[in-house]
Amino acid sequence: MTGTDDCAPDPLVLTLAAQLTVDQHRDRPDRTYERGTCQQCTEEGCPQLDWAERTLADLTARGGRA
Ligand SMILES: [Zn+2]
Repeated sequence: MTGTDDCAPDPLVLTLAAQLTVDQHRDRPDRTYERGTCQQCTEEGCPQLDWAERTLADLTARGGRA
């Protein structure tokens, strides 16, 4: 795997997965981080949430529908 776009997942699927992850981790009125949502959550944050927010930002920057 070299990470080229040749084998990139469908951007729509990526967007939906990332949005779902963010929603799960910020299911509060003030949208702050909620620990313990998934098995990767730690005291300081969650690598999965980091991935989701990075992915959404990246897709938005590339003109995707986030
Ligand atoms: Zn998590």
